[in-house]
Amino acid sequence: MSNNNKGRGFGGKGYYIALILCAAVIGITGYVYYRNLQEPQEVLMEETIPEILSAGTISRDEVMEAIATEAKTEPPQTPLITQEQDSQPVSAPQTLKTQSPIQGEEICGYSMEALSYNQTTRDWRVHNGVDIAAETGREVCAAADGKVYTVYEDDAMGCTVVIRHDGGYTTRYSSLAEELTVKAGDEVKAGQVIGYVGDTALVETTLGTHVHFGVTCQGEPMDPAEFLALGQ
Ligand SMILES: [Zn+2]
Repeated sequence: MSNNNKGRGFGGKGYYIALILCAAVIGITGYVYYRNLQEPQEVLMEETIPEILSAGTISRDEVMEAIATEAKTEPPQTPLITQEQDSQPVSAPQTLKTQSPIQGEEICGYSMEALSYNQTTRDWRVHNGVDIAAETGREVCAAADGKVYTVYEDDAMGCTVVIRHDGGYTTRYSSLAEELTVKAGDEVKAGQVIGYVGDTALVETTLGTHVHFGVTCQGEPMDPAEFLALGQ
């Protein structure tokens, strides 16, 4: 009886030792499996390198260096092709001085969000500038320092001068007389005469003689009143 008890006692201790050994084996197996999961790329690379080496004259060191470089290469954070448009800052430069191109009554306001009725074309449309009434022949001035970008005869808006300014702004003067005092490429100062009031805007003839004055910022229409307020 006592031997049996002793044997049972020893058997119980052995059972625990076997259990610990099993746990250790499972643990080691799991760790090895985990390591294999962690290094699949290295295994793959080791398999493919002999093929690369046998295919050409490239050395093993060069292959390893190329692989290391490839691994470090990250996709570019910014697009490789960038638009080279008016990338100047939107805010007005400190030196920008503005003034109205001509003194007179505003007879049609800026309206890009709401349609306004056009008496000449008898339809509803947006108005990308302000119309300032003035007698034919009066001087029209540059609204700020800048450079004349273009001078042209617009089918709808008549004789037109476009000036570019610092800060990504352009000013546009339409319905001018055909006789102008500037040409494309000229540097102009605020207040410098660029032309004279005419009556050439075919879509605005019912307004009488006036200047159509429009402004864009980074290519987008803006309220001329806001532009004039920048330099005051
Ligand atoms: Zn107008």
